[in-house]
Amino acid sequence: MILVKGYALRSPKSKLAPFEFRRRDPRDQDVVIDIQYCGICHSDVHQARNEWGGSKFPMVPGHEITGVVLRVGGKVKKFKVGDRVGVGCFVDSCRKCEQCKNYYQQFCEKGPSFTYNSTEQDKKTPTFGGYSTGIVVNEDYVLKIPKNLPLDAAAPLLCAGITLYSPLKHWGAGKGKKVAIIGLGGLGHMGVKLAHAMGAEVTVLSHSIKKKKDGLRLGADHFYSTSDPKTFTKLKKHFNLIINTVSVDIDWNEYLELLKINGTMVLVGVPEKNVPVAAHSLIMGRRSLAGSLIGGIQETQEMLNFCGKKKITSEIELIPIQKVNEAYKRIVKSAVRYRFVVDIKSLSS
Ligand SMILES: [Zn+2]
Ligand SMILES: [Zn+2]
Repeated sequence: MILVKGYALRSPKSKLAPFEFRRRDPRDQDVVIDIQYCGICHSDVHQARNEWGGSKFPMVPGHEITGVVLRVGGKVKKFKVGDRVGVGCFVDSCRKCEQCKNYYQQFCEKGPSFTYNSTEQDKKTPTFGGYSTGIVVNEDYVLKIPKNLPLDAAAPLLCAGITLYSPLKHWGAGKGKKVAIIGLGGLGHMGVKLAHAMGAEVTVLSHSIKKKKDGLRLGADHFYSTSDPKTFTKLKKHFNLIINTVSVDIDWNEYLELLKINGTMVLVGVPEKNVPVAAHSLIMGRRSLAGSLIGGIQETQEMLNFCGKKKITSEIELIPIQKVNEAYKRIVKSAVRYRFVVDIKSLSS
């Protein structure tokens, strides 16, 4: 077994604190990764505080992992020692069900092994995430990070990046399409960069115009405040695609009215309350309200390659692990531009 250092929560009320644990010895197809950076996702905070229920403790969060291959098992074909790699939201799946065969491993019918707060495919062994010095993952669930992308700013691509890339791609964001991103946070700022790189005309819909300069710098063509009622009359029937990255309650019907005929609004955040939608908002324009969850392994690699080609990474604030509890508080207040990334070196100091 491989001894690693990490940070864990002992209970939903506790703070993240130092925690040593063991990773399995590499099997034939395993890659041992020396973790260098791990992004902090808003879902880390939700799960740490058991806000979605069913959280397992001790918990080592973190699913935006980048690092370097330290060792490989005897039958590993895709990776060698020294490769720059990433691990995202899941580390295994059944590989046999319809979803796995169609490269939708995130929807595995037996349940994927999420990177933390989950179990391996034996449904017993707990998984621990990226706030740690090392991880052992089957090569089929490891991603390659393009050479031109720095490992720190690339880490958030593994969750925030794919969360936005997948729906943008699926619903055809590109030249001649008008795309709106609701919320300019960890997810939203990736949406702006990716949609812009795909060639779409990008609009940010934010509760205030405080971040307007940032939004335009990141690639948005337009920026509107949703606290101004004029925004909703001006942009009526304007967008082909709206991606909602915020989890606060909004007036869903008001936003659906911003879609053109055949337009789609996609949820990637998880609002606390059920979504109340008037049938009229949908049928009077053949509109769709849809949802999307990260992406499969193949699509995640495609996203990373696209980001390499277009030189896209996340806007980050790099912190030592000792500041992680403070960072959680700031995430809840949306006081980060735009993603915290933990420098894992700090675990060894
Ligand atoms: Zn995430
Ligand atoms: Zn499966």
